[in-house]
Amino acid sequence: MSSTMPLKAIPIARPSFGLNEEKAVLEVLRSGWVSQGPRVAEFERKFGEYVGAAHAVAVSSCTTALHLAFLAAGIKPGDEVLCPSLSFMATANAIVHAGASPIFVDIDLSTYNMDPACIERSITPRTRAILVVHQIGLPSPLSEICSIAASHGLIVIEDAACAIGSEYKGRSIGSPHTTMACFSFHPRKILTTGEGGMITTADEKLAARLRKLRQHSMTVSDLTRHSSSQVVTESYDEVGYNYRMTDIQAAIGLVQLERLDDMLARRRQLASRYSQRLSKIEWFVPPFEPAHCRHNFQSYMVRLKENAPITRDELMQELLNRGVSTRRGIMAIHRELPYRHEKWDSRLPRTNEVTDAAIILPLFYAMTEEEQDYVIDCLEQINVQLRTGEAEKLNSF
Ligand SMILES: *Cc1c(COP(=O)(O)O)cnc(C)c1O
Repeated sequence: MSSTMPLKAIPIARPSFGLNEEKAVLEVLRSGWVSQGPRVAEFERKFGEYVGAAHAVAVSSCTTALHLAFLAAGIKPGDEVLCPSLSFMATANAIVHAGASPIFVDIDLSTYNMDPACIERSITPRTRAILVVHQIGLPSPLSEICSIAASHGLIVIEDAACAIGSEYKGRSIGSPHTTMACFSFHPRKILTTGEGGMITTADEKLAARLRKLRQHSMTVSDLTRHSSSQVVTESYDEVGYNYRMTDIQAAIGLVQLERLDDMLARRRQLASRYSQRLSKIEWFVPPFEPAHCRHNFQSYMVRLKENAPITRDELMQELLNRGVSTRRGIMAIHRELPYRHEKWDSRLPRTNEVTDAAIILPLFYAMTEEEQDYVIDCLEQINVQLRTGEAEKLNSF
């Protein structure tokens, strides 16, 4: 097969909206209630049902979800929170927003999730919590992590930003397996509301506290006041935040939630096509899905082996030259300015290895098999040229 330039470039991801999302937004605009109101309440109820959580609290993003989760859990200045460095910047930022310090933990090379043995080694008398990230949707070893936490009296919170629809030991992420799980509805995630987030918990008191903190710590919600036949005056008993989701966003989320199973199935199908056809490239390490985990393939990430005939950055450029957008794999937070410290580099060898060698290939709901075949053909063509010593041709492509 030869790779001819596609008519249009292939993006790394693209959100999928249909007529139903458009209709839902129009309905909200025409209803006169656009901020947090009835649609948000309905989205929370349906989201909770979907993941199997007693309580779901909608907020403006996963970053604000994490911030509130830490506050509700009582995390305070001076506390240490364990988390991976191999994650999006917001994972560590949210810990700092709560006044605590992120302590970076190295990963397992097969799953890219935090290695329980490294977690155990990072615990100090100041450790209060573990922030578990399910890397690009692949569940972390929650049983092992929760038992370490229990034996040290630590709180476990999940950064499930990417993990909607993923399962661990037969139960949805967010059901929740821990104290609280936080989701993102950013357009790079599978279910999107433009911007948005959700916290799920089994604890009614935590849920009530989260609801209060997200709306200026107002004792009565707008919706309650609006639907009351009595005059209601609210009060504010602490400093809160405005982390509300809007009804416009929730209306989109409700439609996306109905489409979620279909969107997940399509991603898994595309991911398995990638894995099948890319197995011929022997210097790729494909994604690994442990037996008790169900991956949602929020992203399709491969790692270049150490003996690969091309660097990750060169490969990204070769693909871009052919109209294919890719992204470096997951970033390493400890390399960014606010978190740089010499101690991390020696503590995080596997994180460094993965962040330098991983690449995310295009994968999105509306991706056609032709588009995917084109990406694979490009990779095969690059591989053949590298093997036959035609590397110089690559540069002049
Ligand atoms: C996207 C993402 C976030 C941030 O989500 P926002 O909704 O954009 O705030 C946090 N953590 C991880 C792991 C993410 O992938």
